[in-house]
Amino acid sequence: MVRVKSRCRRCGEVSLTLEDILLVEHGDGEGTFYTFICGTCGLAQAYPADGRFVDFMCMNGSYPVILNPPIECKEAGEDPPLSWDDLLDLHLQLEEER
Ligand SMILES: [Zn+2]
Repeated sequence: MVRVKSRCRRCGEVSLTLEDILLVEHGDGEGTFYTFICGTCGLAQAYPADGRFVDFMCMNGSYPVILNPPIECKEAGEDPPLSWDDLLDLHLQLEEER
């Protein structure tokens, strides 16, 4: 069985099978990452995956899962974050509509 070495931020070097690894490609072009759950401490780990690693995984039948952020994520980019005043306004509006 093919095994690869990686690192857990808590435990140090770990040995993984290809089935332990999930490739995630960000649909907005932020790159591809690989993620796994450390078998020793159970923490999720994520690291950038370079092109060679992605090719290696694809050759072994593991293709990246493509994550697309919800469209609202981009639409809201220009707006300021919600404030307490916004929340109070919304609350008052909802009260009026009753
Ligand atoms: Zn660990």
